[in-house]
Amino acid sequence: MTYRVYIKKDYKNKIERIGEASNRSFFFKIVSLAVLAISAFFMFGTGSSDRQEPSLATVEVAPKPDITPITNQHKITPANIENIELQNINEEFTSVIETNVAENTIDDSSFQDIESVIEDEDVFQKDEIIDPWQSVTVKSGDSLALIFSRLGLSPTSLYKLMSLGKEVSKLKKIRPGQLLNFHIEDDELLGLEYEMNLTKTLKISKEENRFKSEVIQIELEKVVKHASAIINDSLFLSAKRAGLSDNLIMQLVAIYGWDIDFALNIREGDSYTVIYEEQYKDGVKVSDGPIIAAEFINRDKTLRAVRYTHDDGRVDYYADNGDAMRKAFLRTPVELARISSRFNLKRKHPILNRIRAHKGVDYAASTGTPIKATGDGTVVLAGKKGGYGRTVILKHGGKYSTLYAHLHRYARGVRTGSRVKQGQTIGYVGKSGLATGPHLHYEFRINGVHRNPLTVKLPKAESISKEALAEFKVKVNPMIVELDRLTGKSAVAVQQSDSSITLADAMMEDG
Ligand SMILES: [Zn+2]
Repeated sequence: MTYRVYIKKDYKNKIERIGEASNRSFFFKIVSLAVLAISAFFMFGTGSSDRQEPSLATVEVAPKPDITPITNQHKITPANIENIELQNINEEFTSVIETNVAENTIDDSSFQDIESVIEDEDVFQKDEIIDPWQSVTVKSGDSLALIFSRLGLSPTSLYKLMSLGKEVSKLKKIRPGQLLNFHIEDDELLGLEYEMNLTKTLKISKEENRFKSEVIQIELEKVVKHASAIINDSLFLSAKRAGLSDNLIMQLVAIYGWDIDFALNIREGDSYTVIYEEQYKDGVKVSDGPIIAAEFINRDKTLRAVRYTHDDGRVDYYADNGDAMRKAFLRTPVELARISSRFNLKRKHPILNRIRAHKGVDYAASTGTPIKATGDGTVVLAGKKGGYGRTVILKHGGKYSTLYAHLHRYARGVRTGSRVKQGQTIGYVGKSGLATGPHLHYEFRINGVHRNPLTVKLPKAESISKEALAEFKVKVNPMIVELDRLTGKSAVAVQQSDSSITLADAMMEDG
């Protein structure tokens, strides 16, 4: 087999050096150069018409008329040999060396060296293999334009990207700490991945010189778990011991807060069992909730609650007989407020200084504290009303109405005639009208008669209708069975473990 080897301009020097094989590493470089040159030959050709060369006995220098004198500049030295580039070799060849490998012109050992050089990484191959994907963590004050400029990407590619439409416009809302993965080759953007949230990833890729985008939906893995605890200090501490997150504790309080006053009514020995969901992504827990069923034993009174999704998508908690856990009204319209004056029909008014019935409850709170609508209703007044100052009056069906006075201001969108939902902020605590300091004056009326908001028996929210009750019972039965199993087997022994698949399946259908 015949190889044609091209050496850059100073073949004589080179042959001498090959002879010197004592400097092995240098020799490898020479050999590598030869190998490269061989490749160069096969890649680029030579223009020589003379390819079927008969085998030659030895390394032989082909006669060449235009050999330039050897100068220092052309000398191959360890210092400059690595600077010789493949392309130059091809362009500047002025001489040809032909070797016949079959006839051992290069001895066996050096030939093996050639192979080992080929197997090792080529000393001339300076290009490292670069991962075309790079991750960028969004920094404070970053915009996509800044990131593109840092990566050396053209504003045009950003413009093309942003003109893709609605999904891609999410990229305008990148936040510090978020991760963007860029696919860049030769300073050209070929792809971009953006994790919008836990379950959605935006993927942009360039195909046939056009960007296209898609949103990939990632399904979180749901696992149904349960926990049980006895309260011997506080609800919070007992729940923490049972492995419940703050989120789940808040949910538990929200479900039972209508029936149990967690500040006043909890007794040592009260206990509860909770069945809930956890969500996993790639095997890592990313969120928990909702609670799908629970049992709370408060002073020997057992209260069970199950989560139920109506056909129209509404979700609420019900007792196992279909009664709503929720009441039609919140007991208090402000959180974290102190009662400064109670319902009293014979109170001496602090400003007017004479007996005047106090037909509501005063909650002292700082100016600007949000005030919540205690029930779903319609705004029949959002305006000034004498000594009440800025006032909101809500009507809830035909029977009930509530009043909120001394507001600092109304919440956005709350005006006479608008609809509000239970818990919605309708205004903010102030001291407008006749008031000594910032507080909310709250009234509750049934058929126009003032009732004590703190003690009035609050109506329950809408329960499961008679027509829907059979379907409700079928759907929640797996949860009831599981609660029976968990509480019957042992009230508290089981702290936490995975629940049965059957229940999990039932929950999935429930949504
Ligand atoms: Zn008052």
